[in-house]
Amino acid sequence: PVVTRIAPSPTGMMHIGTARTALFNWLYARHTGGKFLLRIEDTDRERSTAEAVQVIFDGLKWLGLEADEEPVFQFARADRHRAAVDALLARDAAYKDFMTPEELEAEREAARAEGRVVRSPWRDRSPNDAPDRPFVVRLKAPQEGETIVDDQVKGQVRFENRNLDDLILLRTDGTPTYNLAVVVDDHEMGVTHVIRGDDHLNNAARQTLIYQGLGWDVPVWAHLPLIHGPDGTKLSKRHGAQAVSEFADMGYLPEAMRNYLAKLGWGHGDDEIFADAQAISWFDIKDVVSAPARLDWDKLNHLNNHYIREAEPGRLTGLVSHILQSREWKLRSTDPDLLQRTIPLVRDGAKTLLELADALVFVLKQRPLEIPEKGLAMLTDEVRARLARLREDLAGATEWEVSALESRIRGFAEREGVGIGKFGPALRMVMAGGSPAPDLASTLVSLGKDESLGRLDDALS
Ligand code: GLU
Repeated sequence: PVVTRIAPSPTGMMHIGTARTALFNWLYARHTGGKFLLRIEDTDRERSTAEAVQVIFDGLKWLGLEADEEPVFQFARADRHRAAVDALLARDAAYKDFMTPEELEAEREAARAEGRVVRSPWRDRSPNDAPDRPFVVRLKAPQEGETIVDDQVKGQVRFENRNLDDLILLRTDGTPTYNLAVVVDDHEMGVTHVIRGDDHLNNAARQTLIYQGLGWDVPVWAHLPLIHGPDGTKLSKRHGAQAVSEFADMGYLPEAMRNYLAKLGWGHGDDEIFADAQAISWFDIKDVVSAPARLDWDKLNHLNNHYIREAEPGRLTGLVSHILQSREWKLRSTDPDLLQRTIPLVRDGAKTLLELADALVFVLKQRPLEIPEKGLAMLTDEVRARLARLREDLAGATEWEVSALESRIRGFAEREGVGIGKFGPALRMVMAGGSPAPDLASTLVSLGKDESLGRLDDALS
């Protein structure tokens, strides 16, 4: 059975690239009926605070990409990493290197001058010669031939072994190095497919040598192209958001993010919009493209708008209330019924939840509304008199819904002998105080009869 994983280092933010890696691992595990695991690479003790780890849990939860088992913490597994080093030593696939710092420095210089990698004389010395001083443990890597990383995305990537040094597995203080820990953890977690960013392609060669040294099966590799900004350069702060939490705060829905991220480096023909179930059934690592993917805000906004239009109004109500409450407006209420009734009438143009919140402000304002200067100018005596007659007409309405109100307003205009343009803008102003609002009938329906008549009364008094 397929086992995939993500192995983020807690840095305090969850990068959008990590989210995409998580998604591809999750899709592949779901596609194959396998498992998707999480390992927290928390060996950097300064950065790996509880909060930084929580950021990863929160990000995955928000994205809807939770792991199938409890997370594995790498730092806690140092004994397992050391046990693997013992095994490598016993198999003569590793050696203790007793070079002093001065000797190492001299060897580094010689290597640089001769255009070769660092070599330790201890590789070929008998362990009986071991002096009583600190040592590192190095892998006894092959010095000839080549190491091939047979990658599902990149194809066969070849590394000349003479360019790979005997990498350090254990430092002088006995702590395991990164590449060793990854191999031991992946092996012991049963990981069959390592799907990660292509910034780890060189590590894949080194890790292959460690697998071979231990006599373990090498997993299937799939190194994903990085995500670039719209201008084709590496994604950075100046392209806007990078962290998953920023996308959430900007009002993107997780299903829109999943759909969008799936299309960053993978796709299914010309399909733009697809549900998780479709992505799961179509996804294959072999279809991932190897060129960098570019973040495209227009596409993301387009997808987000689609999912906002599809979402249950009740769910959007919860999400939007959260945003509205965090603002400092004086609002009459964030009554869920009121929001839920209004959302279907105003959401079509909303690209984000923030825009949806903006589109809902008119319905939540407190009476009496503040009417801006240019709105007051609309309220001439003639217009006021007409709105007063309209108020009486509306007061008699028994059916307070869009089509009934549309024909009522049309009928009123006909009796008045004017076009709706003669009073519609003023009515809107009185109803919304200059905030964006939908068409007249929808605006009245969203507000409800009492509130609508009340707002008219305020303006006419
Ligand atoms: N901890 C590594 C990172 O955050 C990932 C290592 C891996 O996926 O093998 O980049």
